[in-house]
Amino acid sequence: MKHVPHRPHGIAKTIPQVSLAVITGSANWGLAFPEDVDMPGVTVLERDVSFDTPYGTSDNWKILELSADLFPDRAARRALCMYSHGNPRGAIDHSCHRRAFAVLQEAGVKRVLACSTVGSVNRAVLPGDFVINADIIEMTQTPFSLLPGRQSFDCSGKRLVCPSCAATLAETATRHWPSSARVHRIEEGLVAAHAYGPRLTSPAEAMAFRMLGADLINHSIAPEATLSREIGACFVPCAYVTAGMNDYLDRERGGLLHDDVLAGLAQTSSRVALEALVAIATLDDCDCNSLKSPQPEIRASRF
Ligand SMILES: [Zn+2]
Repeated sequence: MKHVPHRPHGIAKTIPQVSLAVITGSANWGLAFPEDVDMPGVTVLERDVSFDTPYGTSDNWKILELSADLFPDRAARRALCMYSHGNPRGAIDHSCHRRAFAVLQEAGVKRVLACSTVGSVNRAVLPGDFVINADIIEMTQTPFSLLPGRQSFDCSGKRLVCPSCAATLAETATRHWPSSARVHRIEEGLVAAHAYGPRLTSPAEAMAFRMLGADLINHSIAPEATLSREIGACFVPCAYVTAGMNDYLDRERGGLLHDDVLAGLAQTSSRVALEALVAIATLDDCDCNSLKSPQPEIRASRF
């Protein structure tokens, strides 16, 4: 892994044309991603890059190169990489997702892999398990839409997680994940509820999400999935469980998260994310982008 010097903040660059994006998060806490990840063939071309968007500046991007050796067609690829939960670094600002996906839209990104940790409100999904959920609950939807106009497009809520990217990610995770835990595939139909945070979910909220049909609670997935749909990109979440159902419900215990799980799996999940990113780069076209469709022009022109 080559290291590059830190770039002073505030230097905006032209957005590169790339087809891949990886969004990091709590799954990678404690690591510089991908610099600290044991994955050959990944180079950080630039880091600390800022891009201007119509919604403000988006900071802390890295531009990655995935070497030609990694691909059957011997063609190198580049990817955009950003740390989701910490952008901007010094403040909680949920609108960062809109700026980030404005960058990805301009870049022409076609596939987005987003890393996170999740809590489980399903007693059969345990701390340490790797999970690729199939569906999402976010009752308000994201307030940070990128869709132009009010009636220009329909965006389907079906298949928010790309089935072919999910199959590739599951195959990658199965090769690396500790045998003491499980890899939950998209076929299991697990549902992730979104809560913006940063406060962790209360016992009552956890029960409420459970009653709504959730198996998992995630603090970043809804804007990532929704905005991926809005830019016509495939989306796949790369996540593992750091809090179980009983951890949520035990009011006597002040803490929630299994920090030992996080410390043990940050490196493994980061390796899985990078290998899966390489693998999904060469997948055949799927129909995710057809789930964003233009509305008839007359609906906007006649009112
Ligand atoms: Zn897809």
